[in-house]
Amino acid sequence: MPADPTVSVWEDDPVPAVLVSRPAPDLTAAWLAYTFPDPQPEAAEYQPGTPEFRFWVAAEALRRGADFWGRRVPGGQWQPGASLPVVLDAGEDLNAFYDRASISFFHGTLNGDTVYSGESADVLCHEMGHAILDAVKPELWNAASHEVAAFHESFGDMSAILSALQLPSLRSAILADTGGSLDQSSRLSRLAEQLGAAIRAQRPDLVDPDCLRNAVNSFSYQDPVNLPQRAPASQLSSEAHSFSRVFTGAFFDGLSGMLTARAADANAPTEEELAQMASDMADILILGVQNAPVVPNFYAQVAAGMLEAADATNTVYTPVLRAAFVQRAILSLDSAANVANLQASTESIPMTESLSSLAMSADHYGLTKPLLVHAASHARAYVATSAATHGNGAHEPASSSTAARAYVDDLFTRGRVHYGDVAKAHLNHGKRLRSHKLVAEGGAIRLHRCLFDCGLTR
Ligand SMILES: [Zn+2]
Repeated sequence: MPADPTVSVWEDDPVPAVLVSRPAPDLTAAWLAYTFPDPQPEAAEYQPGTPEFRFWVAAEALRRGADFWGRRVPGGQWQPGASLPVVLDAGEDLNAFYDRASISFFHGTLNGDTVYSGESADVLCHEMGHAILDAVKPELWNAASHEVAAFHESFGDMSAILSALQLPSLRSAILADTGGSLDQSSRLSRLAEQLGAAIRAQRPDLVDPDCLRNAVNSFSYQDPVNLPQRAPASQLSSEAHSFSRVFTGAFFDGLSGMLTARAADANAPTEEELAQMASDMADILILGVQNAPVVPNFYAQVAAGMLEAADATNTVYTPVLRAAFVQRAILSLDSAANVANLQASTESIPMTESLSSLAMSADHYGLTKPLLVHAASHARAYVATSAATHGNGAHEPASSSTAARAYVDDLFTRGRVHYGDVAKAHLNHGKRLRSHKLVAEGGAIRLHRCLFDCGLTR
C-alpha cells in the first residue's frame, strides 16, 4: 500500500459522473468527528457501483466539508456530541435526513438502477450543512417559523456549494465552463442532479428540470406567511425547500459578484481567487447567522448581519452582496443602505437566549389541550426588513405568534406531525416521514422537531 493512499470519488454528483482521485480522508480526525459504519474498506480506488466506492465517496465528501467549516464552528463539536454517526443506507426511500442522532441516507430506483442519496457529495454536504448550522445556532431547531426552517434548507445547499469549491479540480472546471461568470447554471449551481432525476421520474413537478434545486433561479422574497402551502417547483411556496431557493439564489448571486469584485482581472478570475472568495463567504455567512436574532423575518436578519461581516472582511464585497439581497427583495433598499445604523440597541443581545414558549389553541388539529411551540421571538438586533412585494417600500414582518400559527398550520396540513400517544391523528396522511412530534408536557402538548428531511417530501 502506498504511504499516502488515494480514493476515487465523484467530484460532485453521480450524474455528471466526473471521477477524481483524492487523498484518502483521515477518519480519525477529532474536530467535528464522524462515526462511519463498519466494516470500513481499506482506502483504495474502487470501481463505481461497489459499496467500497460509495463508502469513500461519502467519507471524502463529509470529511472535506467538515474540515472546511471546522474552525468556524465554536468548539468543533456537533450539537449531538463529539462524533456524528453516519448511516450510509438506512433503507428504501428517495431521501436523506439529519435528526440530531445521525445523518442518514437511503436508496431508491431510477429506470431500474439503484440510486443512493449517500453517493452524492451534494446531498452528503447538504445534510452535513444541517448539522453544522445546528452546531452554530441550535435554537433554530425548534423555531416555529417558515423562514427559519427554509434557511436551514438553504444552508444545506450553501454548504454543498462551498464544500464543492474545496476541490481544486472542480474550481478549474467551473471557471472554464462558465468563462469566470458563476451566475450561470453550472455543475456548481445544479444540486443533486441524480436524486432530482429519480424524484422527477415519480413526481415530475416536484423538482427543477435539471436537478433537485438550481441555485441559479429568479425567485424573490415574499412573506412565506402569505405564500401557498404547495406549488410546483416552477413557483414559490411556503414549503421549506421551495422557499429556501430565495436565499440560496441571493447567496449564489453574491458568490458570483464577490468573485468578480475581488479578482485581479475581473474577466479572468483564477482558481486561487475562487478558493479565497469561498472561504471569505463562509466566514461572512457564519458571522451573519451568529449575529441574527431568531425572528419571523430571519432572512433579512441574516442578510443584514452578512453585510456587516462583509464590510469587516473586504469592502469590495459589500456592494455586490447588498445588490444581491436587494434584488431578491430580502432586504428593502432602505435597510440595505443603512445596515451600519441598523443595530436596534447598543446593548448586545445574547443570541443564545432561548425562544419563548407560545401556547396556541389546537382543537382544529384534533387536540383537546393547548399546543406549546417555540416562537421566533428574539428581540431584534437589526431593524432590517425585506422589501414589500409591490413598490420599493419595506414589508412589515409578521409577529412571532402570527408566523408560528401559519407555520404550525402548514405542518399539520402537510401531515408532518406525528401524534404519538398524545391524541388520535385528526388527518391521515399515510406513511409519510414526520418532521415533528407531539409530546405531553404538564397540562399541555409540546411540538418538537424530530428531523430535517431533504428528499421526496413535499
Ligand atoms: Zn435539508
